[in-house]
Amino acid sequence: MKTAYVALGANLDDPATTVRAAFAALANLPDSRIIHCSSLYRTAPVGLADQPEFINAVAELETSLAPEALLDALLEIEQRFGRIRAERNGPRTLDLDLLLYDDQCVDLPRLTLPHPRLHLRAFVLQPLAEIAPDLEIPGRGTVAAWLPAVANQGIVKL
Ligand code: ADP
Ligand code: MG
Repeated sequence: MKTAYVALGANLDDPATTVRAAFAALANLPDSRIIHCSSLYRTAPVGLADQPEFINAVAELETSLAPEALLDALLEIEQRFGRIRAERNGPRTLDLDLLLYDDQCVDLPRLTLPHPRLHLRAFVLQPLAEIAPDLEIPGRGTVAAWLPAVANQGIVKL
């Protein structure tokens, strides 16, 4: 079994309910189980400012799915939640990103691991630090060590 971390984000149609339902969908993934779920966090949108606030969270999974199979499963859950891909960084019913998969580094057109922006975003780092502060981001140091770098980003634990 491998350890994977998944970021959840939503900002349309009752996002807190969506994120809780997405935790349940992750729990139902084949050959996988949830080890930890973070609290839910309310965060200001990044990039495109004129859109509702986001609800974000992170889940730790134990899985025997390979990285690309896990990504496919995450994208399938996004589809099920009715995600419409319109503009980059724009509003979405549900966004699921694969943050880390053990200590693997992957550079494929459709999958980059570790997620290239995970260490720059409070909405990922803070929930991740809640469940795995000492986790190493391959090549970058621990999750906790990156927290001060995002201390100026607005985020509130619910
Ligand atoms: P973002 O999450 O950056 O707002 P999207 O959710 O629209 O953007 O993702 C666009 C594409 O990013 C996906 O189709 C997926 O193939 C690719 N991708 C690359 N690396 C990852 C990753 N680590 N986790 C999730 N998607 C990824
Ligand atoms: Mg995504």
